[in-house]
Amino acid sequence: MDLQFKPEHEAFRRELAEWLQTHLARPWIEELRDPANDPDRLFEIRRRWQAVLNEAGYLGMDWPREWGGRGATAIEKAIYTEETYRADAPPIPNVLGISLLGPALIHHGSEELRRRFIPKMLSGEEIWCQGFSEPDAGSDLAALRTRAEPDGEDFRITGQKVWTTFGLWADWIFVLARTDASDRYGGITFFLVPIHQKGVEVRGIKQISGESEFGEVFFDGAVARREHIVGKIGEGWRIAMTVLSYERGAMSLAYPAQYDGYLEDLVAGCRERGILGRPDVREKLGRLLVDNEVMRANGLRNLAGFASGEKPGPEASIEKLFWSEYAKRLADTALELLGPQAHLVVRSPHSRPGMDWAYEAQWCRAGTIYAGSSEIQRNILSRRVLKLPEAR
Ligand SMILES: Cc1cc2nc3c(=O)[nH]c(=O)nc-3n(C[C@H](O)[C@H](O)[C@H](O)COP(=O)(O)OP(=O)(O)OC[C@H]3O[C@@H](n4cnc5c(N)ncnc54)[C@H](O)[C@@H]3O)c2cc1C
Repeated sequence: MDLQFKPEHEAFRRELAEWLQTHLARPWIEELRDPANDPDRLFEIRRRWQAVLNEAGYLGMDWPREWGGRGATAIEKAIYTEETYRADAPPIPNVLGISLLGPALIHHGSEELRRRFIPKMLSGEEIWCQGFSEPDAGSDLAALRTRAEPDGEDFRITGQKVWTTFGLWADWIFVLARTDASDRYGGITFFLVPIHQKGVEVRGIKQISGESEFGEVFFDGAVARREHIVGKIGEGWRIAMTVLSYERGAMSLAYPAQYDGYLEDLVAGCRERGILGRPDVREKLGRLLVDNEVMRANGLRNLAGFASGEKPGPEASIEKLFWSEYAKRLADTALELLGPQAHLVVRSPHSRPGMDWAYEAQWCRAGTIYAGSSEIQRNILSRRVLKLPEAR
């Protein structure tokens, strides 16, 4: 296994880092951190950042050129995410469209669907949200009950989705809906549905952080056009499962790069509090630093595998489980070590500059739930990687 980057990878990294330094210099970061921001303004800042990235050709990098990509390799894409995380770039608002729906259209969609939806998805003119989870179908997604019934040429959608990220800002939603109640997996179809129509209602869900980043989406006979089905009727489950695997590896180096910055902040905070010399503090920080390097080494190992043509397998759960649980441990340690300082950051005149650890400690819990909870990742690892016997 070769864990070294080639000269062309290093050249790409340098070019990107320089580009980020030029384009991400103030006022982006200042604007993004302005405590006066309301959620709509924040969303618009992110949308503008997405347009800048798109114009420079950094979005959908690994897609074919004819669909706005640049045919980049998995390694270049991983370098892209690593550098944007290291630079603390704003997250793009169309993340679900570009990371999940885009690949679905490229691999399973018709030419017409690609032409109609991909350009506006990349530019951020049309924002997408993902309508998979339901009140009784999360980890067990195939239990979904939202139904799509034929109505002339088209379909009518009825049911409820939940935890829909950016539902309040989205123009379109990609929906898994049941077209055959008697077939658990083969009875699911992948629809593209406009949000702004009679028959769709989005309600924000207030989170512990005070934001409503996600919402509930209610369908009451909403129209879904037949030509807006991705793949064929009954192929929704297969498409949804395969698109999730296309993204594997993209984040391999991003989290360790982001946590480098977080760790720097934590060490600086401990120094300011005069506790950096304490053996118990050094032990905690040392463990976090070492584990971040373990995460980076695992990411490099994954990428080396992809580069040599390995297909992503159930081992991908190691990465998801590790970064999400690590984020919790890091934030909890910061709260413990920085004490009141950790709670007074960012939105107070008494704040020290830097991380908002109190916010991070609340937000990071989400990472252990979305995209397969930690329990589900452990199940995958025990069954499919370690081949342990089923618990009875
Ligand atoms: C920040 C965030 C954003 C999200 N965005 C979206 C989105 O845009 N679109 C969308 O469709 N969904 C979204 N989700 C929903 C997410 O996919 C679900 O929350 C997730 O699949 C878990 O489902 P659930 O919440 O119904 O929990 P459940 O599946 O009800 O799980 C409850 C608990 O039981 C455990 N559990 C469940 N089954 C098992 C099992 N077999 N073995 C052991 N333990 C088990 C789980 O780990 C969990 O601790 C988002 C979630 C979060 C947190």
